[in-house]
Amino acid sequence: MKDQRDQNIPYKIYLNENEMPKAWYNVRADMKKKPAPLLNPQTLEPMKFEELRPVFCDELIKQELDDTTAYFEIPQEIRDFYKMFRPSPLIRAYCLEEKLQTPAKIYYKFEGNNTSGSHKLNSAIAQAYYAKKQGLKGITTETGAGQWGTALSMASAYLGLDCQVYMVKCSYEQKPFRREVMRTYGAKVTPSPSDKTEVGRKILQEHPGTSGSLGCAISEAVEAATNQEGYRYVLGSVLNQVLLHQSIIGLECKVALDKYGIKPDMIIGCAGGGSNLGGLISPFLGEMLRGEADYELIAVEPASCPSLTRGKYAYDYCDTGKVCPLSKMYTLGSNFIPSSSHSGGLRYHGMNSVLSEAYDQGLMKAVSVEQTRVFEAAQEFAKVEGILPAPESSHAIRVAIDEALKCKETGEEKTILFGLTGTGYFDMMAYGKFNDGEMSDYIPTDEELEKSFATLPKIEK
Ligand SMILES: *Cc1c(COP(=O)(O)O)cnc(C)c1O
Repeated sequence: MKDQRDQNIPYKIYLNENEMPKAWYNVRADMKKKPAPLLNPQTLEPMKFEELRPVFCDELIKQELDDTTAYFEIPQEIRDFYKMFRPSPLIRAYCLEEKLQTPAKIYYKFEGNNTSGSHKLNSAIAQAYYAKKQGLKGITTETGAGQWGTALSMASAYLGLDCQVYMVKCSYEQKPFRREVMRTYGAKVTPSPSDKTEVGRKILQEHPGTSGSLGCAISEAVEAATNQEGYRYVLGSVLNQVLLHQSIIGLECKVALDKYGIKPDMIIGCAGGGSNLGGLISPFLGEMLRGEADYELIAVEPASCPSLTRGKYAYDYCDTGKVCPLSKMYTLGSNFIPSSSHSGGLRYHGMNSVLSEAYDQGLMKAVSVEQTRVFEAAQEFAKVEGILPAPESSHAIRVAIDEALKCKETGEEKTILFGLTGTGYFDMMAYGKFNDGEMSDYIPTDEELEKSFATLPKIEK
C-alpha cells in the first residue's frame, strides 16, 4: 500500500481560510539586478505611468512598475472571492510515487478547482477588481485556447463589468465549449483577427485566411480598449503584475510545507508566459535571492515553442501588431507562430521579464519537452492520481516524472514540488489525437528560428 514513511503527511494538505496569505509577494523587490524596464517603442525610453494610462488600469500600472515594494496587501474583496476556490490543495502524489517506485517525494499544487479550470482566475479577479474600483465600464482582452478569457468572464460577471474577448480564430472555431462558457458569463467574444479593429483589418489584408495568433489578438484587444471610453486592456500572463497576483500559489505552498517541516529540493512548473511558474517559485526564489535557502527551479516549455531554451534574450514586441511596449525577455520573435500540429498550449513567443532575468542569472533552469511525451505523462498521471490534467500542466508532470525516475536510479530521496495548473476537460480534441496515435512532434529548425530572430527590433539595451 502507500508509503508508510510519511504517515504524518496527509494525501491533501489543506489550509484554513485564516491561514491564507493576506498580501502578494513581489520578488522583484529582492532582486539585486532588476528585470529590464518596459520601453516605449517610439522613444525607446522606459515607459512612464502616464504613458501606460490609456491602455492599463492605474493600480495595475503601479504594480507593474514597482520593483521595490515586497508585499502588496490583497484587498478584502479579492480575498473574499478567493475563498470560493482557495486555498487550493497541496497534494502528496503517493499513488504516482508508488507507480513509479521512486524514493522521491512528489507534491503538487492543484489550481484546477474552479469553473475556469486553471490558476488564471487568481489574477483575473484582481485585474477586474482594480478596473471596477477605477470606475471603468469594461475591460478588453485576448484569449488563446480560452482559459484566460473564461477566468476574466467569471471575474467580470461577479463585479458587473463588461468583458470583451478577442479569441484566436482557430480556437474560436475549434473550441466552441470555452467560447460558450465565456458567453454564458456574459462576455462578448470576437474571433481574431477581425474586421472590428484597424490592426485586425491590416493583419487580414497582409495574411488573408490566417487562423490568428495570440500576438494578433493582443493587438486587437489593446486597440479596442483605447478606442472606447471607459475601457482598459488586461492581460492574463507575461506581465509582472500577473506574476505578483499568482504569487498566492507559491505563498500558500510555503505555508502548507512549513506546517509539516517540508523543504522541496526541486520546484517545477510549465511556462507559457510565465505567470503560474513565476507565482509558484516567487517566495522560494526570494529566499534564494536573500541567501536563505537554495532550490533547483525548473521551467518546462514545449519543444515546438522553446522561448527559454532556444530563444534570444532581447527587447521584443509583445504583440504582432507592435502596439504594446517593448519588453526585454527570452523570445522567439513576435512573428513566431508554433506549428499548427502543436496542441499542448504554451504558445506565446516570449516570457515574463522576471523569469527571463532569473534564467539569465542562472537562478532557474529550463527544459523543453515534446508533446507526445507530455501526453504520455498526462495519461500516466490521470490513471493513478485521478485528475485529468490540462496539456499545459502536463509539461510539468512530464519533468516531475522524469526527475522522480532519475531518483530511482540514484536512490536519492529528493522532494519534488510541481504546479498542476489546471484540468483538461476542454482539451479532449488533443487527447483524442493522442489516443488515436495521430499526435506528432514538431520541433522548429534553427533556420526557422533565425528567420524569426531577424525580425527582432535592433535595440542595444
Ligand atoms: C494559461 C495556462 C498556462 C500557461 O500560462 P502561464 O502564464 O505560463 O502560467 C498553464 N496552464 C494552464 C492550465 C493555463 O490555462
